[in-house]
Amino acid sequence: MTSEQTFIAIKPDGVQRGLVGDIISRFEKRGYKLVAIKMVTPGKAHLEKHYEDLKDKPFFPGLVSYMNSGPIAAMVWEGREVVKVGRLILGATNPLASAPGTIRFDYAIDVGRNVCHGSDAVDSAKKEIKLWFKDDEITNWTSAQQSWVYEK
Ligand code: GDP
Ligand code: MG
Repeated sequence: MTSEQTFIAIKPDGVQRGLVGDIISRFEKRGYKLVAIKMVTPGKAHLEKHYEDLKDKPFFPGLVSYMNSGPIAAMVWEGREVVKVGRLILGATNPLASAPGTIRFDYAIDVGRNVCHGSDAVDSAKKEIKLWFKDDEITNWTSAQQSWVYEK
């Protein structure tokens, strides 16, 4: 069994718009396992670090202030190919270009208010999980659904 993990965050707009339950539900129903969750307002320096690859983009200051505008629901989800599938569940970065049935299509319009974050690769997931969670905040548990979700 793979223990691949990804960092998924419900951004301040998703929290304010009452989408936390629905977003969690989509990952749960797919069969993924929630191994860490917390509400957090981590501050500007932390958010600048999280998005450091984008620091030269013109939208960077606006992105950081948007992310700093309220609490974020930060999560770690685990399961087979969860990094790639997590991105599929979220949809394309720009909601107007995302496929129907994805979170960003169903709940967003503007790229600067796109409701959720998901790691884009296994390596960045590891980095992001380390940035957002302490080791002892990540639980290690066996889901009762495991053998109903996975053949092996
Ligand atoms: P993601 O991995 O799909 O979230 O996309 P990126 O890593 O490329 O960008 C991070 C976040 O920056 C996106 O989720 C958007 O919230 C924001 N962003 C990306 N491109 C743009 C843009 O062209 N304009 C604005 N305003 N925000 C953007
Ligand atoms: Mg990204």
